[in-house]
Amino acid sequence: MDALGQKRDGRAWRPVPRYPLRKPREQPVCSPHINTFFAQAELIYTHTLCILGHIVDSQSHASLTATTGQSRKSVVNDQIAYLGDHSCKHLATILNPETPLRVFAVLDQQAYVHSGAKELIEHLFQQQITTRFTDFEPNPKLEDVTQGIELYRQAQAEIVVAIGGGTAMDMAKLIRTLSHSPDPEAVVRGESPIWASDVRFVAVPTTAGTGSEATQFAVVYIDGQKFSLDHPSLRPDIAIVDPQLMRTLPAAVTAATGLDAFCQAIESIWAVGATEESLRYASEAAALAFEHLPRATNNPDSESRAAMCHASYLAGKAINITRTTAAHALSYPLTSKYGVPHGFAVSVTLALMLAYNAAVTDEDCLDTRSARDVKHRIARILEILGANSVQEGCAAIASLLAKLGGPTSLSEAGIQTPQALRDLIAAVNVQRMSNNPRRTTPTALFELLSQAPEPTQRPKQAIAVSS
Ligand SMILES: [Zn+2]
Repeated sequence: MDALGQKRDGRAWRPVPRYPLRKPREQPVCSPHINTFFAQAELIYTHTLCILGHIVDSQSHASLTATTGQSRKSVVNDQIAYLGDHSCKHLATILNPETPLRVFAVLDQQAYVHSGAKELIEHLFQQQITTRFTDFEPNPKLEDVTQGIELYRQAQAEIVVAIGGGTAMDMAKLIRTLSHSPDPEAVVRGESPIWASDVRFVAVPTTAGTGSEATQFAVVYIDGQKFSLDHPSLRPDIAIVDPQLMRTLPAAVTAATGLDAFCQAIESIWAVGATEESLRYASEAAALAFEHLPRATNNPDSESRAAMCHASYLAGKAINITRTTAAHALSYPLTSKYGVPHGFAVSVTLALMLAYNAAVTDEDCLDTRSARDVKHRIARILEILGANSVQEGCAAIASLLAKLGGPTSLSEAGIQTPQALRDLIAAVNVQRMSNNPRRTTPTALFELLSQAPEPTQRPKQAIAVSS
């Protein structure tokens, strides 16, 4: 593809929305297990940050060129990504004032202003025919999505641009895709198929953690009930991940979102769905986050911010293939019932799950490749953590958490009685559990999680957490 996303077969990348509605695609837009990855993958450093040198396994990409400058372009499995400082400038090429487009901008208004995105991007929107959608609350609700769909249809959008955190990304994913369905609620409830959209979608995240810009997942609530959508057509076509937009993030947000990226990467490595491709992304992401998250949180500089952006993006690509596992499954009730920010909620059981999964046997292994294969991948995790044993690996995770100011144990996260723990276990996401490499039962989980270690001693400079 060229800078404008012109496809190699010459087909114009700027599609005209097709109304009325089209048939759903029979096949996924792309398979998460594409065997031809090596043939398709292309990574071009248009410029590069010095810290990025070690991110890419050159053997996994068809080309690797140029190593000076500040941002880079990556085209993998049909998604274009611009990564690194000042990558926002690529939006100017996509939104060319000489050929104005009907733009549908999904903006988290606060993040748009405070991240500095407005300063960099607003003039581009003003040169296009831009419809803005900003009227939505955190955690996407179907009513908000429906309003957005209404506006989107009126706008006859030719391109969608989402700027903000996870909610803005999810809103844009849902609006763009569900607008092609006559009954969006039926799609969300799984009663009707997802209809693919060919309207281009650019994601510009203002937090580094969810990796939503790289995934085909979206979450939406109907009357308080959470629904998760997972379909290739939800994934953005272009991701612009610019660390400059994360400069003003409060430390607690950097810590929580960064921990999400770290946990997603670690879980992806041991996940039943892990592939060689996902392991490359996840290993790099975990190593980057483990090394750079404390600095990005407590003493941020451009290197640590850029590293966390990449960790987040790569972790997103990894879980787009593998999905998450037990630590994520256990986290959702902690967030919905106890208000623990997602990244912190995931992190408090990660070390315990590491110990649990490391003891996998052929009898309780859910990965058809064997317990030995799982153990091999857990050894890779220990290597990333600089640990010589599972115990040291758990200690390394505990030490990371202690540097970040969030809860370091389930009890600090609010689970302080055996009954609260039983309730938490009863509320876990069973589907995520089935992706955990070692089979879990409520009894085994209760035993494991009751043995949570005492909270780790915090360093004096640790930050306070606001949730
Ligand atoms: Zn997560």
